[in-house]
Amino acid sequence: KKILIIGGVAAGPKAAARARRCDPGAEITIVEEGSFLSYAGCGMPFYIGGMVEKHEELMATPVGVVRDAAFFRNVKDINVLTGTRAEAIDRENKTVRVTNLATNETYDLPYDKLVLATGSKPVRPPIPGVDLAGVYTLGNLEEARAVRRAVEQGARRVVIIGGGLIGLELADTLGTKAGITIVEMMDHVLPTLLDPELSVLVERVLRGKGVQLFLGSRVERIEGDGNGAVARVVTTAGSFDADLVVVAAGVRPRVELAREAGLELGETGAIKVNEYLQTSDPDIYAGGDCVENIHLISGRPVYTPMGSVANRHGRVIGDNVAGGRDTFPGVLGTAILKVFEMNIGRTGLSESEARRLGYRVESFICPAPDRAHFYPGSKPVIIKLVADASTRKLLGAQILGPGDVNKRLDVMVAALSMGATVEQLATFDLAYAPPFSTALDPLTHAANCLRNKLDGRARSINPLEVKKRLAAGEDFVLLDVRTPAEFNEVRLPYPNVVFIPLGKLRERAKELPKDREIIVFCKVSLRGWEAQTILESLGFTNVSFFEGGIAAWP
Ligand code: FAD
Repeated sequence: KKILIIGGVAAGPKAAARARRCDPGAEITIVEEGSFLSYAGCGMPFYIGGMVEKHEELMATPVGVVRDAAFFRNVKDINVLTGTRAEAIDRENKTVRVTNLATNETYDLPYDKLVLATGSKPVRPPIPGVDLAGVYTLGNLEEARAVRRAVEQGARRVVIIGGGLIGLELADTLGTKAGITIVEMMDHVLPTLLDPELSVLVERVLRGKGVQLFLGSRVERIEGDGNGAVARVVTTAGSFDADLVVVAAGVRPRVELAREAGLELGETGAIKVNEYLQTSDPDIYAGGDCVENIHLISGRPVYTPMGSVANRHGRVIGDNVAGGRDTFPGVLGTAILKVFEMNIGRTGLSESEARRLGYRVESFICPAPDRAHFYPGSKPVIIKLVADASTRKLLGAQILGPGDVNKRLDVMVAALSMGATVEQLATFDLAYAPPFSTALDPLTHAANCLRNKLDGRARSINPLEVKKRLAAGEDFVLLDVRTPAEFNEVRLPYPNVVFIPLGKLRERAKELPKDREIIVFCKVSLRGWEAQTILESLGFTNVSFFEGGIAAWP
């Protein structure tokens, strides 16, 4: 059996390796137009920043063997043609026309099963100057090497166009070496990953590290120095001198081969596949960044190009081209990244996405220590849970902070994958000892808070909404119930603030007006909720608290 694979980075080599294990007799060939194979694209920002010394480390197995063509041939009996581009698919004759880019020789390769793992290409917006020397995207390892060289040769003023995952990872890894300016078209960073009130917290960290952030700003043109090299980036927010520009404005699936072969594309523009990762031609499979996936919560097609997904696709395809019937049910849009001291993770639907899709949404923002507060190294995490108020099923989670985000995120992935309700999450038998967690894990705590809200016990509001109402000059009492020490350390600078520590609230409640709205807050929101219940027991009828307290104030 002849298995032909186009694309040699993540989905392609994984499919090849799995197919080999399932079918020792198959003739397997990978065609890759670039010169590097099976590398960790996700490691490129860390290579550029110098945490990974050599680019070969991104292509090596955990025991240090570099995965090049000889490795694939000798270890896996897989034939690899690098520097070779697939030009066209002849579905009738089951051949692919390829060109050797070094010799320009063109020939046909036959297949019984074809795999498209052609990946994605970074978007290069059609702005004047985008082709100047010193303007890069991070589409492949060659470009990552060029960016690293530029930094090593003294590029110190770096402008990143795009405040998404890749732009922010680059700001993180280059932040100590260069002056970073990020220009983002949308009003917040990570606009497709987080809800705005959490993006604001990431923006604060970036600014705190000296990153210049221009949000809601468009790049108009990139200007050269007269010798073809980049000199400055002109945006709607001003003009910024630049030695190096990285365009990180998203990626598009590479679907030309599939489209020209008449294979069906989905509504996102990526290749449409079924649960076996077969295209509309049953002998042609596709996976990785060139396909669209079904979102496990919404059931809708989504384009979520991730290395984690590409590798899982590769395994399923490898099984199936070797005669198996493995399936890939879909994705949750899970992502995680580090921006300086902040870890940021998300999975499922954000609140904004869920609302757009028409769910009756309830959410809660809950800060908590990631391990026992008395244990050295305890750090905060902020969890936002999103649920369907009609079914109480969880829809998504966003988790961030300097603490252990990763553990909570992956528990949420498991919960969402199994269709858990808020109640089920609250009963998970999560691990506890002081070095690892708190007796009630932050996730359990967040689930219980959301249950209180869903049950109508806790009346809480999103902190960004409160901030907007304050900016609009709305008249309400903002009741701070923290201790005097906390009050002296940090305050919300608004005339609406009234300070009464929780312990004094019963005694001093008469100082508060019963005919005005009262919004309570504390450090995290637990005392805020307690204050709400105290005031209600004393006859106040218009009391709520804002979620996240000072810890998550946007
Ligand atoms: P690609 O990696 O795009 O590879 C496709 C290959 O196919 C390319 O080498 C291309 O040359 C080749 N090809 C295409 N067309 C042809 C043709 N006609 N003929 C021959 N060859 C062809 N994902 C995560 O999950 N976590 C992360 O932390 C993360 N970080 C990232 C950081 C950066 C800077 C970047 C750029 C990406 C990151 N990703 C991350 C995404 C991840 O790298 C991709 O999802 C993954 O590489 C997709 O693998 P793929 O095999 O589908 O496609």
